[in-house]
Amino acid sequence: MTSCEGCQLVVLSCETELPDILSNINIVYFREAMSEKSSDYDIAFIEGSVTTDKEARKLRKIRKTAGIVVTLGACSSTGGLNRLKNRFKIDELKEGVYGKEAVTSRTFDTRRVRAVDKVIDVDFHLHGCPISKDEFLKAFNSLLLGLTPAAPNYPVCTDCKRAGNACVFKKGGACLGPVTRAGCDAICVTYGSICWGCRGFVNTPNITAHIETLKRHGKSEQEAVDMLNLYSTGLTGRGKLRKGTS
Ligand code: SF4
Ligand code: SF4
Ligand code: SF4
Repeated sequence: MTSCEGCQLVVLSCETELPDILSNINIVYFREAMSEKSSDYDIAFIEGSVTTDKEARKLRKIRKTAGIVVTLGACSSTGGLNRLKNRFKIDELKEGVYGKEAVTSRTFDTRRVRAVDKVIDVDFHLHGCPISKDEFLKAFNSLLLGLTPAAPNYPVCTDCKRAGNACVFKKGGACLGPVTRAGCDAICVTYGSICWGCRGFVNTPNITAHIETLKRHGKSEQEAVDMLNLYSTGLTGRGKLRKGTS
């Protein structure tokens, strides 16, 4: 679907594991890696969010064929960064990108961004922008064994403590780790950044409390909401969405 294809690249980067993977399955369609196409799937890994009617139709067809549907990354699991589009009116976007004539043209089949599970049932979500290679391999193993993979429902802070990081808040910064689903080993904090929330929220995030925490650490209410809306535009249920800001 609509994506940067970075999550497919993570799968392709499993060089060491690919021979084992290929000895267990037949890959029948993989846009980034092969030109052959087939619509006969047992398991479908779906990358990208749904932004056109054509994509929605394709997804429904896939769901009819595939026994198991797994989303691959933030775009497909939550809408991810693509959700930023939902801050704008569709006609404004069409005009801004393609010019005035695009507003009335039927050529530009573009809609508000939806996660895949807003269109079809999904059996398992692999989160992250991009996905974690280790998490992909573990989930893949589980599927081969006939098991249902499990996504963590605890915050990135847990991964962060395990990684031995000093907390960003203690260093004068602000971070979304406390409300973000773990599973990435807090890689961004480990490499000197903050958690921006790419894996989406834990199941019951305390958004109100976290906005207060961000405010206590120097953010205005709007800045806190903007941070939370970077990967989760419209999912926080809080505050005004500012166009084009993050
Ligand atoms: S989740 Fe991120 S890396 Fe993966 S396809 Fe979407 S934008 Fe690209
Ligand atoms: S740096 Fe972020 S993820 Fe790590 S413990 Fe602090 S708030 Fe949590
Ligand atoms: S630390 Fe946060 S932003 Fe970075 S990969 Fe993990 S969930 Fe995504």
